[in-house]
Amino acid sequence: MKVKLKNVFVIYFLVSVIGLMYALLQLGQPCDCTQHLKSASDLIHAKEKKLSQLQNELKRLQGREKVPEPAEQALPVIYAVTPTYARLVQKAELVRLSQTLLHVKNLHWIVVEDAPAKTQLVSELLAQSHLRFTHLHTETPKEHKRKESDPNWLKPRGVEQRNLALQWLRENHELGKKAVVYFADDDNTYSLRLFDEIRSTKRVSVWPVGLVGGLRFERPLVENSKVVGFYTAWKPNRPFPMDMAGFAVALDLLLANREAHFDLLAERGYLESSLLQSLVSIEELEPKADNCTKVLVWHTRTEKPKMKQEELLQKQGLGSDPSIEV
Ligand code: UDP
Ligand code: MN
Repeated sequence: MKVKLKNVFVIYFLVSVIGLMYALLQLGQPCDCTQHLKSASDLIHAKEKKLSQLQNELKRLQGREKVPEPAEQALPVIYAVTPTYARLVQKAELVRLSQTLLHVKNLHWIVVEDAPAKTQLVSELLAQSHLRFTHLHTETPKEHKRKESDPNWLKPRGVEQRNLALQWLRENHELGKKAVVYFADDDNTYSLRLFDEIRSTKRVSVWPVGLVGGLRFERPLVENSKVVGFYTAWKPNRPFPMDMAGFAVALDLLLANREAHFDLLAERGYLESSLLQSLVSIEELEPKADNCTKVLVWHTRTEKPKMKQEELLQKQGLGSDPSIEV
């Protein structure tokens, strides 16, 4: 037992000495530190690259449209066409509308800016919306644009924008895919139930619109499931005395009638008729919303905000921070 302990001690001593000598030898070796530093910085570089790739991927995922399930993809697409123009309430309108549309299955939002170029405000809003979208722009010719001082009924609005969307649809639709087009202005109020009605449109479907034409509502009159006339007070002799929000058109019908479009020169109140006249007759209209007895869309209009204090402060050079988007 004693001998064994001694042996252990000797082995321990020898190993320690050899270890120490090896360490001393290593210390004497010249070390290429620049080599070590270079590989360390290469490693950091690679990690940084990977990190930025992951950050981009995260951004992409955060901004990505929601992925439709197969059952959803089988539904006819609803193309919602929204003309929009820059003004104080624009972002508020578009946020509200986009968040309504998020609840609608298999929807594709076509936003057409009335502007000489796409704006950053609308581009970013769309990129962050999680919606499937197409972003277009075309500026209304100056002579057709409504001035601040003009009454709101003087000139039709959003005409060239809606026509551009029609052109885009005719050039870009996926063959054989069922789709319905609805002209959804940025300021109206839409019940989600409306989109269930829109989806089954065969040619042109119609329904009541609330708070329009100086009435609580306007609506198509239905007998035996057919439209036989219209409840409206203003210019009742128009071919289709209906608001833009009160109908939807099957994309097939627009493809079969490639010339059909909104007439920029249409007389006041005749814009809807200018498109519909070349697509259907009254008897062919498909009444929705319980034979046109339910109001599922409202022609709301947003009050123009007063900026009295802002203007006063601006005169003193104390206006609000322009880098904060409203
Ligand atoms: N619009 C537009 N350019 C204009 C004015 C309006 O693109 O110069 C758009 C607007 O954002 C809306 C649609 O056209 O989506 C209808 O305009 P508005 O709501 O002012 O019309 P109204 O409700 O009076 O019919
Ligand atoms: Mn409006």
